[in-house]
Amino acid sequence: MLTPTPSPHDTDPAAPLETAGLGPSTAAVHAGEARQKPGHSITDPIFASSTYTFTDTQSIVDFIEEDQPREEYGRYGNPGERVVERKLAALDAGEMAVLFASGMGALVGLLMAHLNAGEEIVFFDECYHRSREFCRKHLTRFGVGFREVPTCDYDAMEAAIGPRTKFIVSESPTNPHLSVVDIERFADIGRRKGVLTLIDATLCTPYNLKPLEAGVDFVLHSATKYLGGHNDLLAGVVVGSREKLEPVRHLRGIMGGVNSPHNAYLLERGLKTFALRMERHNANGLAVARFLERHPRVRQVFYPGLESHPFHTVAARTMRGFGGLVTFLLKDADWRATARVVDAVRIPRIGPSLGGVESLIEQPMVMSYWNYSPAERAAFRISDDMIRLACGIEDPADLVADLAQALG
Ligand SMILES: *Cc1c(COP(=O)(O)O)cnc(C)c1O
Repeated sequence: MLTPTPSPHDTDPAAPLETAGLGPSTAAVHAGEARQKPGHSITDPIFASSTYTFTDTQSIVDFIEEDQPREEYGRYGNPGERVVERKLAALDAGEMAVLFASGMGALVGLLMAHLNAGEEIVFFDECYHRSREFCRKHLTRFGVGFREVPTCDYDAMEAAIGPRTKFIVSESPTNPHLSVVDIERFADIGRRKGVLTLIDATLCTPYNLKPLEAGVDFVLHSATKYLGGHNDLLAGVVVGSREKLEPVRHLRGIMGGVNSPHNAYLLERGLKTFALRMERHNANGLAVARFLERHPRVRQVFYPGLESHPFHTVAARTMRGFGGLVTFLLKDADWRATARVVDAVRIPRIGPSLGGVESLIEQPMVMSYWNYSPAERAAFRISDDMIRLACGIEDPADLVADLAQALG
């Protein structure tokens, strides 16, 4: 006799689909969502509610004593936010996700929850400048030490770890140079030295790489970018083990950097097409990088999918695709000549950010480093002839044709 596979729906008709082992697109569409929802609606309702009520005094006592899974007050959680958190945890193969109002909110919340005065944090130096600024200017005010070592210099990272080091942090790939960290090596340093490891995986996304599977403790995303994907919201998330994230969730409830129920719904909606969009971002990035590499006006292209990229080997070994961000340098161009190329494109709009359906282009020297001295820019390897293109999901042939006319 055939024994039907037991399903969680046998006991709970509302239980979400078990997505372990299913593909990223199935997880993006279904993970974390109840099978049967209020009002028999296929979409999750937006609970526009700041507070949640109790039938009587005993139900409050039961809620507190039994730690019942229900809402109490909006700063501690919202049903829609929990759906998005379960979906994001499933996409990254993590036990738990904690959603914040922005990527920076997630970083600040995570570090504040885990670091104490007298402890230290070590960064690879190509990490997002606001993340490093928070540690250098603000965590130090609370007695937390901050050090930076050259990106992907694993010996320097190991040497910088002292008895007070609590955390090591990197981004991968980095922005705008797209250096790729060997995640397994990074996680191994953390394990051997007994320090927590954090990867800001905003640029690779769980579609291209899952740092938790390599043994990293925390993965952080600015969901403003590829996860939301439509340039219409800000959000951030940290994913990891329940044990290490419970204190982060608790501190979020005190700090208050939470998403509105409407924003959480926008993110859930954006995530439905996450895997589909990533396929196109990856394809567009590679097509544009290959085109630029052959162009006579281009002297260098930074894209981990190109064989010429210094980190191609590690990227090809660890990543499914290489994302939509392409950075390139022009030949014999001062900043004004470079600006003329940026101003001549017709499809990408000029602006900061990345990861949305619309392509965005910018000159880092102008957009992010205008107030820096030439020496400071040189230290960051930001040259006047550098252009950063964040490919959206337009047709690759159209993006290539547009760049060809702008460079022409
Ligand atoms: C944008 C970004 C952040 C900050 O995220 P916000 O959502 O803008 O706060 C952090 N890290 C990386 C790599 C980013 O690209």
